Amino acid sequence: MLLLNSYNQDLIWTDTITEGVREILESQPISFKLSVESMDTKNFYSPDYLELLVEKYSLKYGDTTFDAIITSDDNAANFALTYRDKLFNNAPIVFCGVNDLEFSQKVEFSNITGVLEFTDFAGTIEAALSMQPGLEEIFIITDETTTGNISRTLLKELLPGFKGRVAFSWLDNVTMLELKNAVTDLPENSAILLVSFNRDKDGNWFTYTESINHLRSVSTVPIYGMWDFYLGKGSIGGMITSGHRQGMLAAEMAVDIINGVNPSNLPVIIQRSNQYMFDQNELSRFGIDTSNLPDDSIVINAPESIYQRFAFEIWLIGCVFVFMTIVIFVLMANNNAKKRAEIELEELNRYQESLIELRTEELVQRSRELEIANHDLKKLDSLKTAVLNTVSHDLRTPLTSVLGFCKIIDRDFKRHFKPLCEGDENLSVRGDRIQANLDIIEKEGERLTRLVNDFLDLSKIESGDISWNDISLDPKQLLEQSRPVLEGYFSETGVSLTLEVEDRLPQILADPDRLLQVLNNLVGNAAKFTYKGNVKLVATTTEGGWLKVIVQDTGIGIPQEELDNIFNKFYQVSLTTSDTRKVTRGSGMGLAISKRIIEHYGGELKAESEPNHGSSFTFTIPEAG
Ligand code: ADP
Repeated sequence: MLLLNSYNQDLIWTDTITEGVREILESQPISFKLSVESMDTKNFYSPDYLELLVEKYSLKYGDTTFDAIITSDDNAANFALTYRDKLFNNAPIVFCGVNDLEFSQKVEFSNITGVLEFTDFAGTIEAALSMQPGLEEIFIITDETTTGNISRTLLKELLPGFKGRVAFSWLDNVTMLELKNAVTDLPENSAILLVSFNRDKDGNWFTYTESINHLRSVSTVPIYGMWDFYLGKGSIGGMITSGHRQGMLAAEMAVDIINGVNPSNLPVIIQRSNQYMFDQNELSRFGIDTSNLPDDSIVINAPESIYQRFAFEIWLIGCVFVFMTIVIFVLMANNNAKKRAEIELEELNRYQESLIELRTEELVQRSRELEIANHDLKKLDSLKTAVLNTVSHDLRTPLTSVLGFCKIIDRDFKRHFKPLCEGDENLSVRGDRIQANLDIIEKEGERLTRLVNDFLDLSKIESGDISWNDISLDPKQLLEQSRPVLEGYFSETGVSLTLEVEDRLPQILADPDRLLQVLNNLVGNAAKFTYKGNVKLVATTTEGGWLKVIVQDTGIGIPQEELDNIFNKFYQVSLTTSDTRKVTRGSGMGLAISKRIIEHYGGELKAESEPNHGSSFTFTIPEAG
């Protein structure tokens, strides 16, 4: 692609167009090779010079086929149109910055489109009139360049429209010095409309910046201008035409053409989208209020507003504020929820407290009732013990008499009456029956005596009335002495008793009668509940040096769940029918008494058993200290 500029690159206008073109080309997905040529026709525009350019371009681009040519400003557009056959292989042309609005009417106009530059002089003059209410005269500055000439023609057409509102004077065909002298002395209610002044009467060349600098340094009135390159350099502003924008529009069209769009389908754009733009520095210099500017004006160099200056801080504070507000709302919501929960909790507490109070009252009441019941029970218990004591005592005396007389009767009957019955069968039978009955009375009497004794022992132990006649004794000796009594339990059974007594047993401090009571109970029970096998009494020493006695039988055993109960008063394990026949039930007090005796001496009585295999009762007693 070729960009053919009418003027030099150091002209801001040309530069901004080039920038616009490059911006569009660089944003494309494919890369374009762009050649840029500047014709410099503000300085040179003679036919000879143009011939020279033709030669130069033919030399440079004779072999090159351009896909499109973009031209900027009138001279380049005319040149390209004239020489495109010869120089540029008839490539399509996209022009911009063309002031000659009749350009598209030219005969050669084909395979070409572009942007016509509509310089809005009238809009700028209108702006000046509203900004300077007392404005009487406008001095128009132009030169003899193409732009200057075209602009002059256009202005001459539209100035009569302002007749009566403001006067116009031309400052053209002058040298820079003459111009500056003229500008220095302009009347107060006047303004300058700077069209262009790149070449003065003497042919001296000035860039846009140089020319505005010269004028700005001497002018006492505002300088209005229509191009962006004057703005910010000393021009107060006006209806501004943007070179950058035109470059962009032209480049977009060129890209479309390269992509296959026919130029005839891309209508010529008259760039009207100009913008009122003003420089705050110049507005301030002439005391012009921004409220007098046309609507939608852009003001450059305007003092930064507080928002512009502190935008970040304002946004930050705003965000913090919003965040805080949210936090406050959340906290408030939380607080409300908390308060509600507290109220509910309080109500619950009150309810629970009242419930507890109620329950406590009930409990106190129950406790009082229980205390009374306990007291009554204790009273009853001691009454029972007292009754038992008295009854047992009172029973023992007549029982002893009954047993005693029974024995005397039995002896007398055997000695004196039995011999009389011999020979009389009837009497013999009756005599035998009397003797058997006496035996029963004796046995039952003895049983009753044992029962009464057990009662008495238990109640004495429980009430603490029992007397312990403790002596230091050798368990081996005690066992040997009681062996015949213990063996006596087995005299009528087929079961044997074996005693395994260690030679050196620990000496103990105990009441021998009580200890014998325990042995009798355990061995007696073993005899009662063992029908075959044997019973073993083992006396040994524990690791801690205590006496340990085990009574082990091969009897009916005790169910596991009953083992703890057998030490309770009056407790008897229920027996099967086959067992019942053989056993004379006792009182259910033997083990309870034995346990209390052993525990009185600081020892322990335990039972282990396996039904149908046998039981083993073990007690320990500490060595005498
Ligand atoms: P009792 O005078 O009835 O024997 P005990 O207090 O001496 O009272 O024994 C309580 C119960 O424990 C017995 O009735 C019996 O059911 C059970 N019992 C005690 N020793 C044995 C044993 N060696 N074998 C089986 N059962 C036993």
